[in-house]
Amino acid sequence: MQLKFYSPFFILLLSAVITSCAVNPVTGRNEISLVSEAQERAIGEQQYGTSQQSQGGEFTVDQTLSDYVNTVGQRIAAVSDRPLDYEFVVLNNSVPNAWALPGGKIAVNRGLLTELKSEAELAAVLGHEVVHAAAGHGAQAMTRGTLLQGVLAVGAIALQDNDYGDYIVGASQLGAQLITTRYSREAERESDYYGIQYMVAAGYDPRAAVSLQETFVRLSEGNNPGWLDGLFASHPPSQERVINNQALVDELMPQLQGIDLENGEVRYQQAMAFLEENAEAYDLFDEAQLAIADGELDIALLNLNAAINMVPREARFKGLKGDILLNQRDYRSAINTYDAAINNDDSYYDYYLGRGVAYARLGERTQARADLESSASLLPTAIAMNELGKLSLVDNDKTLAKQYFNQAAQAQGRVGQEASLSFTRLDLEDNPGNYISVQMFANDDGRIFGRVFNNSSIEVANTRIEFAAVLGNRLGQQSRIVSSLPANSYVDVSTGMRFPEGQVWTGEQMQANVISASTQ
Ligand SMILES: [Zn+2]
Repeated sequence: MQLKFYSPFFILLLSAVITSCAVNPVTGRNEISLVSEAQERAIGEQQYGTSQQSQGGEFTVDQTLSDYVNTVGQRIAAVSDRPLDYEFVVLNNSVPNAWALPGGKIAVNRGLLTELKSEAELAAVLGHEVVHAAAGHGAQAMTRGTLLQGVLAVGAIALQDNDYGDYIVGASQLGAQLITTRYSREAERESDYYGIQYMVAAGYDPRAAVSLQETFVRLSEGNNPGWLDGLFASHPPSQERVINNQALVDELMPQLQGIDLENGEVRYQQAMAFLEENAEAYDLFDEAQLAIADGELDIALLNLNAAINMVPREARFKGLKGDILLNQRDYRSAINTYDAAINNDDSYYDYYLGRGVAYARLGERTQARADLESSASLLPTAIAMNELGKLSLVDNDKTLAKQYFNQAAQAQGRVGQEASLSFTRLDLEDNPGNYISVQMFANDDGRIFGRVFNNSSIEVANTRIEFAAVLGNRLGQQSRIVSSLPANSYVDVSTGMRFPEGQVWTGEQMQANVISASTQ
């Protein structure tokens, strides 16, 4: 265990150490955890919604599939070693992936479900994730400090599945880290091992865990980039995992003679009927995303129109079409398309974000603000914060504008940089001393100068500085204005004051105070 920093949050965690040396309910081992169960539950509760949003949002078109996955999940959760408020959702994401947040908040992507062949294979996936939550693997990763350091130091996380390169800002970054983290190899082995035990306890055929791993290995050998972004990034498939699972299954099977082990192939096929029937529409949606990445917007639009015709209730197809129209500056059409998406599904941030930006470009500020606030409450992104900052500036609310720009500035990339500049421009006039510093010095002949540094990344005008110096037995005072200071530069300013001949002066006898500055 390595702890390198002492933030207030760390102190908070440290105070929990004493009480959190406990037996792991899954492995039976004694463990130190800096995260209490109450904190695990709270993190899961707080991060579940935004983590879903950042990964495509809930798959709402086929509610029966979500209900089915939750039923299978609850069957596994019921036999887990740790009672938590387990929840299972299907996300509208084509990348094959599944994840668990602390506290038992679990998600599986549509793109993984389409690769599975039976309910028992689904149980293997969910069993693995249930163990991650039950054994507190997320809390362990936090205890090791790998997550927190990342959250506090990096500031913002770029996500794979985004349309604009928008970034999550604020507290939701923790969830983004938790669901993209790579657990230790030991944690992965535990999840495979106990996950299979849970499958058996819930009445499923454990051989499905082997066939599942074989599928993963086969898919990872193909040239499917989606897999590398998703499950395989955090769960590298390997022959070793196939062999380990097979060994455990071989050990278990003799004890299971005569027991009716379920495979649930037919039931799984029934539950997947909608996605099976509409596979082509979702393929077109995936192709549209690839076309957008290649700048082929017209092809993407053709694909999306075809997909919308096939599944008119799928809001994501319309949302992506809206994104293209927005990109083409066809704001009215974009707004109409987002309207249609929201009509189908009013719970996904991206539609509000896109519509809010479109309204802002048209100068319809009231609607713009309402939509951007809606999107930020579902998922705080740098784009929303930056746009809200700009709207606040138009309304002359500098204080609010600064708050928004400051949040957006946590993100890296173009939007974060733009927001950072906007924030500096406003803050520099309020707090010039935070950006402009003065170093005092005197010549051999006693004449006093100030070296005025502009430490900011923008040009500063009319910097007014008051100088003071102890000259013999009196206090000299002078005021100077530096008319222009380029970004990250300095200039030497003569104060017009001079130490009397014979005075032995020190640095403490000279002072400067930055009074005001402006940015034009
Ligand atoms: Zn795992």
